[in-house]
Amino acid sequence: MKREDYFRWAERAAQWGAEYLANLSERPVRAQTAPGEIAAMLPDTPPDEPEDMETIFADFERIVPDGMTHWQHPRFFAYFSANAAPASMVAENLTSVMAAQCMLWQTSPAATEIETRMVDWMRQALGLRTGFQGVIQDSATTANVCGVLTMRERALAWRGNDSGLAGQPQLRVYASPETHSSVDKAIRIAGIGQQNLVKVPTDGSWALDAEALREAIEADRAARYLPAGVILCIGGTSIGASDRLQETIAVAREQDLYVHVDAAWAGSAMICPELRELWEGIDGADSIAINPHKWLGAQFDCSIQFLADPKPQVRTLGIRPEYLQTLGQTEVTNYSEWTIPLGRRFRALKLWFLFRAHGLEDLRQRIRNHIAWAEEAAAAIAALEDFRLVTKCHLSLFTFQYAPPGEDANDATERLLQAINDDGRIYLTQTVHEGQFVIRFQVGQFDCRREDVLLAVEVLGELATASRPNSQG
Ligand code: PLP
Repeated sequence: MKREDYFRWAERAAQWGAEYLANLSERPVRAQTAPGEIAAMLPDTPPDEPEDMETIFADFERIVPDGMTHWQHPRFFAYFSANAAPASMVAENLTSVMAAQCMLWQTSPAATEIETRMVDWMRQALGLRTGFQGVIQDSATTANVCGVLTMRERALAWRGNDSGLAGQPQLRVYASPETHSSVDKAIRIAGIGQQNLVKVPTDGSWALDAEALREAIEADRAARYLPAGVILCIGGTSIGASDRLQETIAVAREQDLYVHVDAAWAGSAMICPELRELWEGIDGADSIAINPHKWLGAQFDCSIQFLADPKPQVRTLGIRPEYLQTLGQTEVTNYSEWTIPLGRRFRALKLWFLFRAHGLEDLRQRIRNHIAWAEEAAAAIAALEDFRLVTKCHLSLFTFQYAPPGEDANDATERLLQAINDDGRIYLTQTVHEGQFVIRFQVGQFDCRREDVLLAVEVLGELATASRPNSQG
């Protein structure tokens, strides 16, 4: 394809996209393909000669959409939504055309300066204190890795970067068992070692117990470990549990530990002032991860890491060889020095488009609706025969079990989940909570309507009835 043909094919792609979005709710949410089915439709070897775009596009239409799980489907209630408001899709199109590599201010002045401004717009939208700066990462996993590397180096007075971890005191990091597995991964990547991620017990509301945290740190110091930091969670992935920041950050401060807060999903909801009680004390954190690509509506990928003071992270990750010097431009921000990869996409544009095309009030209303509809769905599911809620709504996430008499509830719930996703009208996923296999239900898809949520309840009732041994279905 030649550059001159770009408009024709971009227009065709946009037309395809508009039709896809208009008809999305008629598709099954989860891909109904079997493993290997798509691969079998592709040639084993790459083409030696160019193929025409007509054929390529036709193959895309034939093979790809039916082989996808549709994340923008309004009845996507699985995992956490990865949203894409149409305005942010348009921004991503523009980003892909400019295809800039935004590693330095000089390689992308507009991208850098819009990123700085968008991080600050987001800070204001969330009600975070002035002083927090930040950077847009690809994912919360990366933000968590950056947070852990920074706490490691700060605790070692930056000796780890210079001489490695051998011969250094054994580091310890503390978190609740409700933190996401990306925290475990970060600890492994940072060379701290899984067994040095201390999972501190939680209390009856699955929040990290501050007194147990203090005891764990003190016991570790007595045993000659070197405590480096605490990772707190707001809106854990499994059931949406949150730590109480005020009291846990107070312990971390008293012990001189670095604090990273993972609010990847729930953070977006903090644009609603009435919900901020959930993260009271957040202004005391050193680092905070929030994914606007989850609940806010910025197209995947877009994860903001706020930093109370960027210097420790830049000292940990920044490196400036001769070929990256920005001659004469010493006062500029080079975001690659705040992050792991050198190369960076222009992610701020989609946030800029999103904020402006919707305004904060519309974004808040969507989140408030999701929470209200999740509460309505939780009550309706609890009232269905043989269903029971296992955890109540944490924002817009709750879990439930299907427990018909005479059958193991874990088995019955798993069987129902398979039936739901084979049916395709809605998509739900599972977790294990306190040994019970439960179905997670989260409402967060950008264009989801109350009817979609109510239909989900109807589908659950219908499929449960059909699965009963004496049913006619
Ligand atoms: N942290 C939390 C609380 C999450 O829920 C998730 C993913 O769902 C992650 C981190 C990882 O997010 P990402 O896919 O952006 O790496």
